[in-house]
Amino acid sequence: MRVVIIGGGVIGLVTAWRTAQRGAEVTVVDPEPGGGAARVAAGMLAAVTELHYGEEALLALNLASARRYPEFAAELQEVSGAGIGYRACGTLAVALDADDRAHLRELHALHRRCGLDPTWLTGRECRRLEPMLAPGVRGGLRVDGDHQADPRRLTAALLTACERTGVAFVRRRAERLVVTGDRATGVVSADGAALEAERVVLAAGSESGRLAGVPAEALPPVRPVKGQILRLRVPPVYAPFLSRTVRAVVRGGHVYLVPRVDGELVVGATSEEQGWDTTVTAGGVYELLRDAHELVPGITELPLVETRAGLRPGSPDNAPLLGPTALPGLYLATGHHRNGVLLAPVTGDALAEALTTGELPEEARPFTPRRFSRPLQEV
Ligand code: FAD
Repeated sequence: MRVVIIGGGVIGLVTAWRTAQRGAEVTVVDPEPGGGAARVAAGMLAAVTELHYGEEALLALNLASARRYPEFAAELQEVSGAGIGYRACGTLAVALDADDRAHLRELHALHRRCGLDPTWLTGRECRRLEPMLAPGVRGGLRVDGDHQADPRRLTAALLTACERTGVAFVRRRAERLVVTGDRATGVVSADGAALEAERVVLAAGSESGRLAGVPAEALPPVRPVKGQILRLRVPPVYAPFLSRTVRAVVRGGHVYLVPRVDGELVVGATSEEQGWDTTVTAGGVYELLRDAHELVPGITELPLVETRAGLRPGSPDNAPLLGPTALPGLYLATGHHRNGVLLAPVTGDALAEALTTGELPEEARPFTPRRFSRPLQEV
């Protein structure tokens, strides 16, 4: 079976690798495979601390993917020969004032309703775990299962794994989906070449909603959600600066610090509805540094080595669109929004299963693209 995948970001690559492992002939079309939002992302595997009201169904998928990570990381390392920076370090979500503490208590109550039970800590207990935290920290939640991976290493390892599993690459943009009769039958790339396939997967991240040739009923409702992010470096003299991911809600905005083993410290991220704009702004950098400084004052001593902005593929319910569409032959693997790195293992498995057997696995069924194409009275 021939499969063409449009988009070689983390989601297109993991889908390609897993599908090729099952014997399909897979081609990825992307001018820059291994690029996309994962070049920017922090790599938190934050199933629990990223939980929001109304996203309880997504929690189950996030937890399923988080559970697969240790084995996924080990298998990728074995196939590609390179690590993905998987670090089972846990996360500490803290509150800086009474409002933040009330917000965190609410989140804790939601966790309990969902059968999770992270540990509530006093401010002093938080600082004992992470001595660089501001003295004013009022309390926090210790979440031992929310870990991290390095998204740049992850996509590099996935690229190698794809090449070693026989995936072919066409380093061009896909211009148009080809539909023959009532089926998707291939793709035309930017140089006019036609690629035929029995199945086409649209995994073009935030651009998935604007590929020419896709009929309206199959076009994913995905939009770009801008995120600005910073990378600092912890010189050996300050190490260990933080031993786990630390995060907080400061003045309503989310800020997190993700410490890597190699000394990189990622500070993120803004969330902005700005269309296709990826400008790094003075305001964005200022707000991130201001909020991170309130949380961990010592960061102002560290070298600032990179500022970047990327586009999350947002969907109407913040959850991914996985599997077959209303157009036979066309599949979606997109809309992963804040959780594309976390959801990579479960997405690769779900799409490989759907492409080779025609059936989505149980855990992925709530995320069928058809949930957005049902008549309104059924929703
Ligand atoms: P992308 O990564 O956007 O890749 C899409 C690919 O499609 C690109 O390579 C592009 O070149 C290609 N493409 C587009 N159009 C075409 C076309 N017409 N033809 C061919 N190719 C095309 N997730 C987490 O799990 N944890 C985090 O901590 C985290 N932090 C983040 C922080 C920021 C600031 C941002 C921006 C994102 C973050 N994310 C995080 C989200 C995560 O990065 C995304 O969900 C994920 O990268 C989406 O992957 P994707 O492959 O669907 O899309």
